[in-house]
Amino acid sequence: MKALRLEAIGRLAVSDLEKPVPGPNDVLVKVDACGICGTDRHLFLGEFPSKPPVTLGHEFTGIVEAVGRDVTAFHPGMRVTGDPNISCGRCPECKRGRVNLCRNLQAIGIHRDGGFAEYVCMPEQQAFALPGDLDPLHGAFCEPLACCLHGVDMAEIKTGYSVVVLGGGVIGLLVVQLARLAGATRVVLATRNAGKRRLAKDLGATATIDPSSGDIVDLISGDGGILPGGADVVIECAGVTETVEEAPRLARKGGTAVILGVMPQGVKVSIEPFDLLFREIRLLSSFVNPFTHARAADLIATGAIKVEPLISRKIGFDEAARTIANPPPAGEIRALVIPGL
Ligand code: NAP
Ligand code: ZN
Repeated sequence: MKALRLEAIGRLAVSDLEKPVPGPNDVLVKVDACGICGTDRHLFLGEFPSKPPVTLGHEFTGIVEAVGRDVTAFHPGMRVTGDPNISCGRCPECKRGRVNLCRNLQAIGIHRDGGFAEYVCMPEQQAFALPGDLDPLHGAFCEPLACCLHGVDMAEIKTGYSVVVLGGGVIGLLVVQLARLAGATRVVLATRNAGKRRLAKDLGATATIDPSSGDIVDLISGDGGILPGGADVVIECAGVTETVEEAPRLARKGGTAVILGVMPQGVKVSIEPFDLLFREIRLLSSFVNPFTHARAADLIATGAIKVEPLISRKIGFDEAARTIANPPPAGEIRALVIPGL
C-alpha cells in the first residue's frame, strides 16, 4: 500500500509498504480521508517529538477492512473514526482519570503509523462507529472536534453566555459552533482573513472582527465595544503571542479564558497577575481529547456540527507532502488527504 511517511525530520516520502495485519485486538481501516493538521508541520520541522520513520496522519476516517480475532464491537464494512491518542491506563495520571496527561501517551500518526496511507491499524478501543450513510470525508473532523469539545467543556459555557473566539482556523470555526450549541447567545470571532470571518457568520458567529483593524481588547470589551466589560468566556484558538495575551484581558470580571492554541516550546508571553487576581479571571489550558471522541463522532454523525464548509482542498499523497512542508495557503481551513487521488 502507499503511505506518506516522515522519513526523518524535514524529509517526507511516499513509500510502498506492506498492508498492515491487524493484531488480535486491532481494527484495520481502509482510509477514506485524513486531515492535515498544524501538528503535522510541527512534526516535519522537528518542533514536536515523533519517531521517524513513521506514517503521519492522526485525523483519519474510513471503512473497517478486517478485525483481529478478539475484536467484538466492529466488523468489516463499518464506517469508523479513530481517536489517535492511546493512553497506557497504568501510570499515575491514567489512574486518576487524566488520560490525556498519560506519561506514556502514544499517538497514531506521531509515534506509530497513521492515516496518510491506504490502510491504518488501531487498537479496538481507539475506534468509534459512524453511520454508514455519513459522507465518507466528514469523519476526518472528529479528532479536531474532540479537542475543541474538551476546551469548551472546561470553559463551562452556560445558556445566555457571551463568548469570544480568537483565531478562525478549523479549531476556531468548530469552537464557534460548539459555543452556540452550548447555549452562548453572542459569539464573536476574531481572525484576519475576510473569508474565514464570512464563514464564521454562516456557522453561527453573531459578530466577527479583524484583529488587524485596531486594539481588539478595546474594540470588543471597551465601553463602546461589541461586549462592553468583556466576555463570559474567551477561547484562544490561534496559538500566537498576541491572542494568548489578549485572552484573559478580553474576559469579563469573574470570566474564564481557555487556551487551546499551541505555542512553540520555550516561548514566553506577558500576563499581568494583578489583573488576573483583581478581576478573578480563570485562565485554563486544554490539551487534546480525554473521553470526548464519542461525543464528537455523534455531533458529526447527526450533522449538529457543520464540517463540509471547512474542507478547503482534497489532495493525494504527493501534494500532501508539499502541503505539509510549506506554510498553509492564505484562507485555507482544512486540506484532506484522500488515498488514490
Ligand atoms: P490554524 O489554521 O493555524 O488557525 C489559527 C488561525 O488563527 C490562523 O489561521 C489565523 O487566521 C488566526 N490568527 C493568527 N493570528 C491571529 C491574531 N493575532 N488574532 C486572531 N487570529 C489570528 O490552526 P488550527 O488548526 O485552527 O489550530 C489552532 C490552534 O490550536 C493551533 O495552535 C493548534 O496547534 C492548536 N490545537 C490545539 C489542540 C489542543 O488539544 N489544545 C488541538 C488541535 C489544535 P487568519 O489568517 O484569519 O488570522
Ligand atoms: Zn498513562
